[in-house]
Amino acid sequence: MGEELIGRLIARLGEAQVRVGADIPPNNCVDASNLTPVTPKALLLPRTTEEVAAALALCNEAGQPVVTQGGMTGLAAGAQPGEGEVAISLQRMRGIEEIDPVAGTLTVLAGTPLAEVQAAAEEAGFFCGIDLGARGTATIGGNVATNAGGNQVVRYGMTRRNVLGLEAVQADGTVLTSLNKMMKNNTGYDWTQLFIGSEGTLGIVTRVVLGLHPKPPAVETALVAAPSAEAMLTLLARIQSRFGHDLLTFEAMWREFMDVAIDGLKLAQPFAERHEVTLLIELGCPDADRVTEALGEWMEEGLVADALIAQSGADAQRMWAFRESVYEYGHFHKNRVNLDISLPRGSIGPAVAALREVAAARWPQAIHVIFGHVADSNLHVVVGPLDGGTGSVTAEEKHTVDEGVYEVVRRFQGSVSAEHGIGRLKRPYLGYSRTPAELKLMHTLKAALDPKGILNPGRVLDPA
Ligand code: ZN
Repeated sequence: MGEELIGRLIARLGEAQVRVGADIPPNNCVDASNLTPVTPKALLLPRTTEEVAAALALCNEAGQPVVTQGGMTGLAAGAQPGEGEVAISLQRMRGIEEIDPVAGTLTVLAGTPLAEVQAAAEEAGFFCGIDLGARGTATIGGNVATNAGGNQVVRYGMTRRNVLGLEAVQADGTVLTSLNKMMKNNTGYDWTQLFIGSEGTLGIVTRVVLGLHPKPPAVETALVAAPSAEAMLTLLARIQSRFGHDLLTFEAMWREFMDVAIDGLKLAQPFAERHEVTLLIELGCPDADRVTEALGEWMEEGLVADALIAQSGADAQRMWAFRESVYEYGHFHKNRVNLDISLPRGSIGPAVAALREVAAARWPQAIHVIFGHVADSNLHVVVGPLDGGTGSVTAEEKHTVDEGVYEVVRRFQGSVSAEHGIGRLKRPYLGYSRTPAELKLMHTLKAALDPKGILNPGRVLDPA
């Protein structure tokens, strides 16, 4: 049965588009979740929407489960193959197809890395509202599938707010096309928004139309120390009322995060003392004096303990190096658990205290750090290494960390996934953040759009 299907896929797509066994690169066997790699039954490399449609039609007919892959940077094991699955990678569907300067839109193939999209937008005098750490590898299709967030959500919203149109292929090979470029289009159900954030469980996104933004004026970057989470939140409210939509970025790094950056990764300590929270703030404000003046006032008020304003691009880069130090963790503690949670802003202080307590009690030897996009109520928690720094995290170890952290999330009525999605790893906890009626609706939609359950089975929802 399996071999027959592979024969049909080769006949339809061509031998170069179908790989099996040792010809499948390791990169297609594991995503950034750091689980044990699994080689898929076959790897399909379609070049066009028609080839994606043909592949899905054949797999659907055979009841063959498929997993869709982009840049493999996901942390929730959504793109990592399960045993016996066929992987469909969009990596060959790459390229900007059109920039419409009048509409302010960019049309792009789903397998294009985000950084290419950003560069093309800027070259055309625009700005792409989506930005995240994995920009060089993560693809726009993956960003859409997971409704990715990132560093500028407070200003430009999640991926869904930046998408105007989509082309996608349904489980049976039907191609849905709505390459809409208009801000207003109230013509019935908006299936495109339903597909955004569905993590490949309802269809495969093949093309995306993004709404672009004007380039922000001069950007002021500052590194600001706050004495407490409460002071940080008051400061955030002050900035938002004074600078409004000019606030582009408000990234918080708690004390332990800065300790790892300074002591572990040897970044120069930015302030004379270490503080409870260090903030990386960016304002799209053409008047640098306004920023200096405001920070001075807030320092007198006790909301700011210390502050540095970047005087050059190099200064700004040095400030970003702290926030981006988290991407270096792989070099010194591999075996770690990355969590992505949301909490109502007002609960962030007490929730961080509770998370510290849980971490100290249950994993006393492990490093734990907390950082995140506080303006979006989004925190990231990293716990590790769990076994001295080598090897993969076992499912059991991951489970105990999840339970500890999500218990705190539940206590403070937060969300178990802010921006990384549910994938397979967070599936058991979906009910912490969604009601039974909501879960039932999700299952109804899944059954209607993918009746054989071939699309990314076991991701987001329990298999039917
Ligand atoms: Zn993030």
